[in-house]
Amino acid sequence: MPEEPCQCPDCQRFYREHDRLIRENPSLRQQQELSWAALQAFRTLAGRVLEELQKHYPEPDPAPAAAATPAGAEAEAVSPETEAIQQAMGDLENINAHLFSIEALMERIFDVRVPEEVEQKFREVAGELAPDPLNADRLRLNRLLHQTPDLPDRG
Ligand SMILES: [Zn+2]
Repeated sequence: MPEEPCQCPDCQRFYREHDRLIRENPSLRQQQELSWAALQAFRTLAGRVLEELQKHYPEPDPAPAAAATPAGAEAEAVSPETEAIQQAMGDLENINAHLFSIEALMERIFDVRVPEEVEQKFREVAGELAPDPLNADRLRLNRLLHQTPDLPDRG
């Protein structure tokens, strides 16, 4: 028996968004453009925020320096807020590096062009996967079907 999809508010929001992206971008070409635009938007925004933070906050001290610090020459105390910002800057740098790698992989996916018949198949399948905007109802219906203990024709 297939596991029932989670119905918590986060998951429901995800299902709705997932289906909307299929419904509104039902061809390979549109999915390519959508994903590319989303990736670039993410990179632009995260990169700009990182630049802003780098202008206003000092780079964290390299960790091993403590050993070389003479006794008595205490390192300047860093406030917890600054420490949190520095941590976030490191995380953003990692995110940007990952996004850069993803972009390199995506470029290959986006080189692909398919014949119109195949695009038509995309649109067909998209219509089956995400048929109408009222898909909360569709999810509820799916759930009801899953909950039916015995289908009549199984007896
Ligand atoms: Zn959930």
